[in-house]
Amino acid sequence: MDNYIAMIGLEMHCEISKTNTKVFSSARNSYSELPNSNIRPVDMAFPGTLPVVNKKAIEMSLMASMILKCKQPEYIYFERKNYYYPDLPKGFQITQETKPAPVGIYGELEFECNGETKKVRVNNLHLEEDAASSEHLSSTTTIDYNRAGVPLLELVTEPDLRSADEAVAFLETMRSIYQYTNISEADSKKGQIRCDVNVSIMEKDKDPNDPKNWGTRVEIKNVNSFGGVRDAINYEIERQCDAKEDGTYDKEVEQETRRWDEESGTTIRMRSKVDAI
Ligand code: ADP
Ligand code: MG
Repeated sequence: MDNYIAMIGLEMHCEISKTNTKVFSSARNSYSELPNSNIRPVDMAFPGTLPVVNKKAIEMSLMASMILKCKQPEYIYFERKNYYYPDLPKGFQITQETKPAPVGIYGELEFECNGETKKVRVNNLHLEEDAASSEHLSSTTTIDYNRAGVPLLELVTEPDLRSADEAVAFLETMRSIYQYTNISEADSKKGQIRCDVNVSIMEKDKDPNDPKNWGTRVEIKNVNSFGGVRDAINYEIERQCDAKEDGTYDKEVEQETRRWDEESGTTIRMRSKVDAI
């Protein structure tokens, strides 16, 4: 492990919990009530319905964008990201995929970690709608559409974080910002914060600014707690370093999506990236 440095990039999703209504409908922004009671036709994608964007959600997103020293777009627009899954009745998610759509691009955040000041670059901050929540029981899956359409901010960092400690310190700083600005309760116990964690390793003496030197990126999806982020990163760094030492790196470490399994404390392969390059 001593011969490598870790490169970690986070995709941090945080629900905006402090608007009165959802991001594109007049349903209340609250889902801790009777399942499937807090929905409007637009959340369910009924034919003929059209989304109307929530001004407060835009204002809050722009505030976060400014705090992160991002560049704000001249005008804001949304795009459709197609995927087919029961938690998404429309068959697409309204999001901001391609630049310059996002509410913020190319910013940075300074934060403290173990007494040192660190800096992470922000690739973009974008506003999107949350999907419904599904619960997988032994023989059935239940879906609660109350969460469908809740405003969600996704912050994508560059792979500037170098350890699990730095990743968690960054997340804690962001959580305080969201709470202090009254954008969100940012409570991971309520599922308001969810992270995708990207990890690769690189030889220590190489230049981290040259992407040619970067190792294969593994993405760990949907890590729901800061403790989970810490454990998943440490596990993944060790797995990748061990594979280097054993000479199995090229076989074992692929550009793929894995899932963090809380119970076994390991990451498990889900699929290879559809757009792997
Ligand atoms: P995707 O849709 O595949 O998740 P994104 O562009 O949304 O792609 O996210 C890419 C994430 O991966 C960013 O957080 C970025 O910092 C991170 N990343 C890119 N390359 C590496 C790498 N070599 N090692 C670790 N993280 C990386
Ligand atoms: Mg991703």
